[in-house]
Amino acid sequence: VNDCTLCNPANEAVLWYDNRCRITEVNNNDYPGYCRVIWHAHVREMSDLSVDDRRHLYFVVETVEEALRRVVRPDKINLASLGNQVPHLHWHVIPRFANDPHFPDPIWATPHRQAVPRSFDRMTLQRELVRRLAE
Ligand SMILES: [Zn+2]
Repeated sequence: VNDCTLCNPANEAVLWYDNRCRITEVNNNDYPGYCRVIWHAHVREMSDLSVDDRRHLYFVVETVEEALRRVVRPDKINLASLGNQVPHLHWHVIPRFANDPHFPDPIWATPHRQAVPRSFDRMTLQRELVRRLAE
Protein backbone atom coordinates (compact mmCIF):
# COMPACT_ATOMS: atom_id res chain seq x y z
CA VAL A 1 0.00 0.00 0.00
CA ASN A 2 1.38 3.36 -1.04
CA ASP A 3 0.32 6.09 1.42
CA CYS A 4 2.54 8.77 -0.17
CA THR A 5 0.75 12.14 -0.11
CA LEU A 6 2.25 13.15 -3.47
CA CYS A 7 1.17 9.91 -5.18
CA ASN A 8 -2.29 10.38 -3.65
CA PRO A 9 -2.80 14.14 -3.57
CA ALA A 10 -5.85 15.74 -1.99
CA ASN A 11 -6.99 19.23 -2.98
CA GLU A 12 -3.93 20.04 -5.08
CA ALA A 13 -4.09 23.35 -6.95
CA VAL A 14 -2.49 22.32 -10.25
CA LEU A 15 -1.29 25.24 -12.38
CA TRP A 16 0.23 23.16 -15.20
CA TYR A 17 1.11 19.55 -15.93
CA ASP A 18 2.47 17.30 -18.62
CA ASN A 19 3.03 13.57 -18.78
CA ARG A 20 6.07 13.71 -16.45
CA CYS A 21 5.45 16.33 -13.80
CA ARG A 22 3.09 18.99 -12.46
CA ILE A 23 3.28 22.47 -10.99
CA THR A 24 1.10 23.09 -7.95
CA GLU A 25 0.44 26.21 -5.96
CA VAL A 26 1.02 25.72 -2.25
CA ASN A 27 -1.76 27.08 -0.07
CA ASN A 28 0.31 29.23 2.29
CA ASN A 29 -0.96 32.72 3.10
CA ASP A 30 2.47 33.81 4.32
CA TYR A 31 4.07 32.88 0.99
CA PRO A 32 1.84 33.81 -1.95
CA GLY A 33 3.12 32.32 -5.19
CA TYR A 34 4.86 29.44 -3.42
CA CYS A 35 4.88 26.57 -5.94
CA ARG A 36 5.96 22.97 -6.03
CA VAL A 37 7.14 21.02 -9.05
CA ILE A 38 6.25 17.39 -8.44
CA TRP A 39 7.50 14.45 -10.48
CA HIS A 40 4.51 12.18 -11.12
CA ALA A 41 6.31 8.89 -10.49
CA HIS A 42 7.33 7.93 -6.99
CA VAL A 43 11.12 8.29 -7.13
CA ARG A 44 13.32 9.50 -4.28
CA GLU A 45 16.15 11.45 -5.87
CA MET A 46 17.05 13.45 -8.99
CA SER A 47 19.66 10.78 -9.75
CA ASP A 48 16.88 8.18 -10.02
CA LEU A 49 15.81 9.95 -13.24
CA SER A 50 17.27 9.58 -16.70
CA VAL A 51 19.40 12.50 -17.85
CA ASP A 52 16.61 13.64 -20.16
CA ASP A 53 14.07 13.52 -17.32
CA ARG A 54 16.42 15.47 -15.03
CA ARG A 55 16.82 18.15 -17.67
CA HIS A 56 13.06 18.31 -18.16
CA LEU A 57 12.31 18.59 -14.44
CA TYR A 58 14.95 21.24 -13.91
CA PHE A 59 13.75 23.17 -16.95
CA VAL A 60 10.25 23.24 -15.43
CA VAL A 61 11.69 24.41 -12.07
CA GLU A 62 13.62 27.21 -13.82
CA THR A 63 10.51 28.20 -15.73
CA VAL A 64 8.49 28.48 -12.51
CA GLU A 65 11.29 30.66 -11.13
CA GLU A 66 11.16 32.94 -14.18
CA ALA A 67 7.38 33.23 -14.09
CA LEU A 68 7.36 34.00 -10.35
CA ARG A 69 10.04 36.66 -10.79
CA ARG A 70 7.92 38.34 -13.44
CA VAL A 71 4.53 38.05 -11.72
CA VAL A 72 5.29 38.14 -7.97
CA ARG A 73 8.50 40.23 -8.17
CA PRO A 74 10.18 38.83 -5.05
CA ASP A 75 13.50 39.98 -3.59
CA LYS A 76 14.80 36.41 -3.91
CA ILE A 77 13.72 32.98 -5.10
CA ASN A 78 14.46 29.95 -2.94
CA LEU A 79 14.76 26.54 -4.57
CA ALA A 80 14.68 23.52 -2.32
CA SER A 81 14.46 19.77 -2.76
CA LEU A 82 14.25 18.10 0.63
CA GLY A 83 11.87 15.16 0.66
CA ASN A 84 12.81 14.12 4.18
CA GLN A 85 9.18 13.90 5.23
CA VAL A 86 7.77 12.86 1.85
CA PRO A 87 10.46 10.94 -0.08
CA HIS A 88 8.83 11.58 -3.47
CA LEU A 89 10.86 13.81 -5.77
CA HIS A 90 9.61 17.43 -5.74
CA TRP A 91 11.05 20.93 -5.78
CA HIS A 92 9.89 23.93 -3.79
CA VAL A 93 10.02 27.26 -5.64
CA ILE A 94 9.46 29.98 -3.07
CA PRO A 95 9.26 33.74 -3.67
CA ARG A 96 10.99 35.49 -0.76
CA PHE A 97 10.81 39.06 0.48
CA ALA A 98 13.19 40.78 2.87
CA ASN A 99 10.26 41.40 5.24
CA ASP A 100 8.62 37.96 4.99
CA PRO A 101 8.20 36.01 8.26
CA HIS A 102 11.41 33.96 8.03
CA PHE A 103 13.80 36.05 5.95
CA PRO A 104 16.79 35.61 5.74
CA ASP A 105 16.27 32.06 7.00
CA PRO A 106 14.57 29.17 5.19
CA ILE A 107 10.78 29.23 5.48
CA TRP A 108 10.92 26.12 7.68
CA ALA A 109 12.95 27.91 10.37
CA THR A 110 11.58 29.79 13.38
CA PRO A 111 9.76 32.93 12.18
CA HIS A 112 11.16 36.36 12.97
CA ARG A 113 8.12 38.53 12.29
CA GLN A 114 4.49 38.64 11.20
CA ALA A 115 3.66 38.26 7.53
CA VAL A 116 2.95 41.35 5.47
CA PRO A 117 -0.26 40.88 3.46
CA ARG A 118 0.67 40.34 -0.18
CA SER A 119 -1.17 39.28 -3.28
CA PHE A 120 -0.43 38.49 -6.88
CA ASP A 121 -2.40 37.73 -10.03
CA ARG A 122 -2.79 33.96 -10.08
CA MET A 123 -4.25 33.92 -13.59
CA THR A 124 -1.26 35.85 -14.92
CA LEU A 125 1.08 33.37 -13.26
CA GLN A 126 -0.75 30.43 -14.79
CA ARG A 127 -0.78 32.10 -18.22
CA GLU A 128 2.98 32.75 -17.96
CA LEU A 129 3.64 29.12 -17.07
CA VAL A 130 1.52 27.75 -19.90
CA ARG A 131 3.04 30.15 -22.42
CA ARG A 132 6.67 29.53 -21.40
CA LEU A 133 6.30 25.75 -21.17
CA ALA A 134 4.57 25.52 -24.55
CA GLU A 135 7.69 26.87 -26.31
ZN1 LIG B 1 4.88 9.16 -4.01
